[in-house]
Amino acid sequence: MHCEQVHIDLAPGALGGLNASDEAAVADHLRECVPCRTEYAGFVAVVRRLATVMPHEIEPDGRPVSDPVPDPAGAIEAVRRERTGR
Ligand SMILES: [Zn+2]
Repeated sequence: MHCEQVHIDLAPGALGGLNASDEAAVADHLRECVPCRTEYAGFVAVVRRLATVMPHEIEPDGRPVSDPVPDPAGAIEAVRRERTGR
């Protein structure tokens, strides 16, 4: 797997949105490639931060977010298909 292909999968990978074979391919690449590993660590840090964000931090007026993305995995897959044409 080349770095360009891996980059497409890094964000979905950090969000847990890859299928098992893509996840394994990304993991194999990250073991060998320091730049991609560094980028992946950045995505993971963002995901961890987002997991702790409170609704009042998102909405400037303090309103809770009433309509979160209903299907995060589906949304990720849609973006991926759009970018890769797969
Ligand atoms: Zn790489």
